[in-house]
Amino acid sequence: MCYSRRHSPWLFHMNGGSCNGCDIELIASLTPRYDAEQLGVRLEGSPRHADILCITGPVTHNAVNAIKTVYGQVCGPKAVVAIGSCPATTNVFIDSRTLEGPLNLHVPVDVFVPGCPPRPDAIIQGVAKAAEILAERAAKKIPIVPVVMPLVGPPCNGACACGSAPSSTEAQP
Ligand code: SF4
Repeated sequence: MCYSRRHSPWLFHMNGGSCNGCDIELIASLTPRYDAEQLGVRLEGSPRHADILCITGPVTHNAVNAIKTVYGQVCGPKAVVAIGSCPATTNVFIDSRTLEGPLNLHVPVDVFVPGCPPRPDAIIQGVAKAAEILAERAAKKIPIVPVVMPLVGPPCNGACACGSAPSSTEAQP
């Protein structure tokens, strides 16, 4: 069972009020250009069938209860991946009065994938790290210690305030 979790993690994707940039990059990581499905990663339609919960967005007031409910519906052992800078810090929405984020105030997060948005290869690395943590947790019952993945891609050129790598769609020909 641990072998299966390590080598074929099933994901449930949840939008916590994102601008959709991170959601597009997550889907891009599963499409043939990056092809995480070839590695056994599969997007599930129900949290009850998933091992890893992938959450995007800064966690809005409307999304917070849904996130907690869905987290409870994922069977244990489970792992949470926060995709993008929004769930980690609320990012560019930091002063909004509609927010309840960051995400780790509400559910335990195992892996943070930084970027605005992160590139698909960074998302795949984050999911692989979560699968590794999940398999170890299933075998040894290890506690939750968040991992922050390194930025993937060229450094921010200073033209914006985000400090993140440009999106994959900008980098592609
Ligand atoms: S991290 Fe950037 S791309 Fe992702 S949801 Fe937030 S603002 Fe959008």
